[in-house]
Amino acid sequence: MRDYVIPFDTDNIPKEYVDVVIVGCGVASLYTALMLPDNLNITIIAKETYKETNSYLAQGGVAAPCDKENDMKELFFNDTLTCGRGESDVEAVKILVNEAVDNILNLENLGVKFDKDKTGKYLLGKEGAHSVSRIVRAGDFTGKSIMEVLYNQVEKSKNITIRENIFVVDILTYKNKCVGILVLDNKNIKSILSNYIILSSGGIGNIYEHTTNAKGINGDGIAMVLRANGAVSNMSYIQFHPTVFYDSSHNGQSFLISEAVRGEGAILYNENGERFMEKIHPMKDLAPRDIVSSAIIEQIKKQIAPCVYLDITHWDEEALRLRFPTIFEFCMSKNINMAEDLIPVAPRMHYFMGGIKVDINGQTSIDNLYASGECSCTGVHGKNRLASNSLLEALVFGRRIARNIESKYGKSTKIDKNIRIKNNDSSYKILQDRSSITKWMEQYFGIDRTYYSVKHLETKINNILNDTIEIDYCSRDDIEKINAVMVIKAIINDELNKKLSKNNLINAN
Ligand SMILES: Cc1cc2nc3c(=O)[nH]c(=O)nc-3n(C[C@H](O)[C@H](O)[C@H](O)COP(=O)(O)OP(=O)(O)OC[C@H]3O[C@@H](n4cnc5c(N)ncnc54)[C@H](O)[C@@H]3O)c2cc1C
Repeated sequence: MRDYVIPFDTDNIPKEYVDVVIVGCGVASLYTALMLPDNLNITIIAKETYKETNSYLAQGGVAAPCDKENDMKELFFNDTLTCGRGESDVEAVKILVNEAVDNILNLENLGVKFDKDKTGKYLLGKEGAHSVSRIVRAGDFTGKSIMEVLYNQVEKSKNITIRENIFVVDILTYKNKCVGILVLDNKNIKSILSNYIILSSGGIGNIYEHTTNAKGINGDGIAMVLRANGAVSNMSYIQFHPTVFYDSSHNGQSFLISEAVRGEGAILYNENGERFMEKIHPMKDLAPRDIVSSAIIEQIKKQIAPCVYLDITHWDEEALRLRFPTIFEFCMSKNINMAEDLIPVAPRMHYFMGGIKVDINGQTSIDNLYASGECSCTGVHGKNRLASNSLLEALVFGRRIARNIESKYGKSTKIDKNIRIKNNDSSYKILQDRSSITKWMEQYFGIDRTYYSVKHLETKINNILNDTIEIDYCSRDDIEKINAVMVIKAIINDELNKKLSKNNLINAN
């Protein structure tokens, strides 16, 4: 495997130097930047604007045991472990649970307004596999509310610079130490050297044809770590959200119908008007996501319609507009009035439990390189993430990274600003078109994948890796395609390694 995707020589390209550089501008990045000491010079680089992140799209909220009367840390701990199917890292889950409320209070101190009643008590949402209501929320636009506050705070911070619409190509490594990043800024290659590098580059949604994820989310940071021979973990653990708005005329980013809608009593029906979750799990429509998604796929196989239906018509229009303004407006734009009509939904790729392997302080296997948020694998989610634990993970472990860097800063040696890194390998281009690759993921690595479908995908991916050409200039699109294919290859390897050791026949869940 090549270490870098483009040729360069840091002595012959523009070079900058900062104390900390962060890739991405979602919740994981912005919050970590704000938690770092303000005497550090921090630069945030992102390939899209802060509004084009999964963080901005988050609807339901942040899980946290804030209700002292009805919730306990132990209950939250158990729900997270049960949902993760016994594969979560217990130490990481303890940290997540213990530090949850503190980080919610911290967000409020920064200016985030969560929904509360007149007495100041949180109005908590209920979501799948939670034994009590514990989702701290801001309407059905929690991500947007948090992001607007964090972005504003970052803009006000004199020590933090945000640069959007700049593409990060690779991390720069020197003697198994990360020393900076290589960026593509308006077709110009530049290097940014730094003492500490944090990848907060998000998940992998767009390696699938259909996903709830924002358009740039492509596994780039994970591919950078793979090229640098860093460790990744649980690469085959992909979450499909059960209730994504079904629209036959639409590919790419699909609209999520938050689990909070089922939390408020919405019921799933098949095309014959029959409830089906009652027979499958004691939590019925609020069973863990992997179980509900598999059940929907089974219904779709048995019926003509390619979707099932969500019914919340027992609520009146005014109440729905108030509780779910974003979802209500979206459905209206599709001529569906949630108070009168059923919502067509189907499972779609939503979240990545795997990623860059990190310890409880967000440190990767490469010195000076940290990872936080969806690109990282802390192990808290195990095989199946508990709803609304993702924003929480980004906050808890982002703050831990900031504290870890703070404790080291000044004690560790700074990187040599005159360091020279070169790559003489030429660029290459994968000839296969991107849309075929994302269709294959949908077809061969979905919820109902089998050993044979994964092997078939493996052959197709190996073939396209043999069909490349050398090129002089590698565009952002070319690099993103390479990144997507590298991530897919790692996903296939993990799936085959994990399952082959147990059984030759794969059932996704
Ligand atoms: C529709 C939707 C609803 C959700 N609702 C919830 C919820 O209610 N509660 C919850 O806990 N979780 C929810 N999630 C999951 C959660 O939003 C995400 O897991 C979380 O926000 C990820 O944050 P992040 O900062 O790691 O990544 P993101 O917010 O996705 O940000 C990634 C950043 O990396 C940048 N980037 C990527 N590659 C490059 C590159 N090569 N160069 C430069 N920049 C790059 C992107 O531009 C972006 O700025 C939801 C997800 C979706 C899609």
